Amino acid sequence: MPDTLPGRHLYEPMAYGPAPIADNFWRTTATPPACPPIDGAQHCETAVIGAGFTGLNAALALARAGQDVVVLDANQPGWGASGRNGGFCCLGGAKLDFDGLAKRHGAGAAREYLDAERAAVDHVAALLADHGIEADTHSRGETLLAHRASRIAALQDGAAYYQRHYGIAPTVLPREALPEHGLNSPEFHGALTVPIGFALNPMKYIAGLTDAARAAGARLHGNSPVAALRRDATGAHLLHTPTGTIRATNLILATNGYGAEDLPRWLGGRVLPVQSSILVTRPLSGHELTAQGWTSRQMSYDTRHLLHYFRLLPDNRMLFGLRADYRATPAGFAATRKRARRDFDRMFPAWRGVDTAHFWSGLVALARNLTPFAGQVPGMDNTWAALCYHGNGVAMGSYAGRLLAARITGTGPPTPGLMSAPLRRFELGSWRRLILPLVYGWYEIQDQI
Ligand SMILES: Cc1cc2nc3c(=O)[nH]c(=O)nc-3n(C[C@H](O)[C@H](O)[C@H](O)COP(=O)(O)OP(=O)(O)OC[C@H]3O[C@@H](n4cnc5c(N)ncnc54)[C@H](O)[C@@H]3O)c2cc1C
Repeated sequence: MPDTLPGRHLYEPMAYGPAPIADNFWRTTATPPACPPIDGAQHCETAVIGAGFTGLNAALALARAGQDVVVLDANQPGWGASGRNGGFCCLGGAKLDFDGLAKRHGAGAAREYLDAERAAVDHVAALLADHGIEADTHSRGETLLAHRASRIAALQDGAAYYQRHYGIAPTVLPREALPEHGLNSPEFHGALTVPIGFALNPMKYIAGLTDAARAAGARLHGNSPVAALRRDATGAHLLHTPTGTIRATNLILATNGYGAEDLPRWLGGRVLPVQSSILVTRPLSGHELTAQGWTSRQMSYDTRHLLHYFRLLPDNRMLFGLRADYRATPAGFAATRKRARRDFDRMFPAWRGVDTAHFWSGLVALARNLTPFAGQVPGMDNTWAALCYHGNGVAMGSYAGRLLAARITGTGPPTPGLMSAPLRRFELGSWRRLILPLVYGWYEIQDQI
């Protein structure tokens, strides 16, 4: 594995190397099939950079449609966020709700996007079923927990919102009902359960996708960092790696938070990667689960702006995630780990002494538009990209890859119009990471109210 990725990046080198995933729990549960580096000069119809949910879904759909596809990843499938996440396969992907989307894009476009969110969850469920991928699924939808009494009204509002816009009947529980539902914690004041979505083991999903894409005929190459992008005299793309070159008619960028500012230059300033971290405990005994009163396997998160997300895994380990430090340095990593442990202990006091050997970080990606992008790269012929799922890419990243394949082959689900809106640049350009400590500080204050 390389120590870093080619190109110019926003974070310190640590973010792009092996250190943040040394203790990734998912890597102990599954190993996607190893993909050899590309060897020599090759060609294909579509080349995909990035073997995460986005790139593998695009490759699978293209290969099934009969296209000759090559996927190149600097590491191995699932090395990026796709092998590091909480496994919440749920609604989301944009940072705007229906009203926010409607204000910017019109009610019709907002409706189209919400339908796509739901289609994205169904897409992953169908993939798992169609390809027989065993990904340790559990949870009937997801549960939002009020972290302060002042957020109880937000649960009621949320229930009305989901009923109105998704036509479903969410459940709201008052504080006193939480223990009987196995959701006991001194921290929470009520719960809203939205019955859409499920949890999965992301590394098992990646392993299954890798197998499926290969079986469909896609050629997958790991340890193949694309260090330069050029065009030949016919306008075809030329992708250069240390061990080989690909000549391709179409190019798909599926690098999300790990893309470089200058590969291609269009990406520069348009994506804001943000770190998220997860800790996982050892398996908890039945006695320990009862002592805390947390026995539910619902995937859950809290009402904070800087939210925590957590779920009891099938083998009774607790997974607990949170927004990480704005620095990708050993000090930033240690500070997040300390904060994660402090917050975990406060929410689950009966598990205070429990060993949490697994802790890791990864990059998600935000867009200035506050909506995901899946479409043609402006000004670059035959070049496509799908990225910026705002920390919700298990379902939406998978679907966005599928959508790009549909755009290229002309058959398949239509892309919601607002997802093709050109990605705007962040105002601060290369300095945009500096807004994070300010935003995080502001959110921390808001979360106390
Ligand atoms: C800690 C954490 C928790 C999360 N939890 C959830 C969750 O519970 N639910 C949810 O929906 N989402 C979650 N997410 C977000 C989700 O994981 C991402 O949105 C999704 O995985 C993005 O997939 P991707 O395929 O687009 O990109 P990635 O999986 O990040 O893959 C990008 C790939 O590009 C490759 N690459 C980059 N540059 C090059 C190059 N020059 N040459 C070759 N290859 C290159 C990298 O090696 C990498 O493998 C979480 C993310 C993190 C980090």
